[in-house]
Amino acid sequence: MSLFDLKGRVAIVTGGNGGIGLGMARGLAAAGAAIVVVGRNEDKNKAAVKELKKLGADVSSQIVDVTKESAAKKMVKDAVKKHGRVDILVNNAGMNIRKQPEEYTEAEWHQVIDTNLTSAFLCSRAVYEAMKKVGGGKIINIGSMMSIFGASFTTPYAASKGGMVQMTRAFACAWAKDNIQVNAVLPGWIDTDLTRRARQQVKGLHERVLGRTPAGRWGTPDDHAGIAVFLGGPASDFVTGTAIPVDGGYSVQG
Ligand code: NDP
Repeated sequence: MSLFDLKGRVAIVTGGNGGIGLGMARGLAAAGAAIVVVGRNEDKNKAAVKELKKLGADVSSQIVDVTKESAAKKMVKDAVKKHGRVDILVNNAGMNIRKQPEEYTEAEWHQVIDTNLTSAFLCSRAVYEAMKKVGGGKIINIGSMMSIFGASFTTPYAASKGGMVQMTRAFACAWAKDNIQVNAVLPGWIDTDLTRRARQQVKGLHERVLGRTPAGRWGTPDDHAGIAVFLGGPASDFVTGTAIPVDGGYSVQG
């Protein structure tokens, strides 16, 4: 058995219709996994399915708002109905609202926390029984450099991403007995819709990222394909509770 062979495994990727989620889905699909693309936008879902099918993968999509518990439960039920099992969950759906701390409304705080953190709590709990049923599973939570650093314009986002790492550790401890490994990935600055908006909103961001990243470039969604295959398959069976930066060295630059 190859350590990186995902044939026969089924992966749900929230936010899998674009950006980092789609980059991870490409990696998982190329390694042989069937993919369930999850997002709210039907057109983006359809385009992602079309692209992933070209890799030879068995792919379906679901329109889901992952902030809702009933929707998370239905997502898993429908995935099992369609593909027979679920082995991998990537909790990648996320968003940001950039303001000074004193400018956020309470609703904006909850929107960011619910989308980035509560959704991962709900989806992970929803998938737990299905993973137990097949003898184990892999949960990959997407954190951020804001899991370890702060920034003036990102209070709820940093809180959600710091929480993601701690929740990863708690899940890892709770579910190791069920052979479910739970790990976090901390992307550096990656060129996606999310950060294209950030570059418009935060003056000098583009140059600051280039200057601080030892690799000398912004990351791409496809830079996350490898870590998805590693954390999604047998190669990482004794790896749990970790938070692995995929950042071109951003987090170790002194
Ligand atoms: P994108 O904006 O490209 O992707 C966000 C994805 O999340 C979309 O596919 C979107 O799909 C989905 N999504 C958002 N809200 C919901 C919801 N309520 N229910 C279901 N799906 C939802 O951003 P990125 O690819 O950049 O971000 C992906 C993840 O990576 C996020 O968690 C982000 O915080 C994290 N990250 C990104 C970094 C970067 O530099 N880009 C750095 C560090 C972390 P739809 O619109 O169809 O709902």
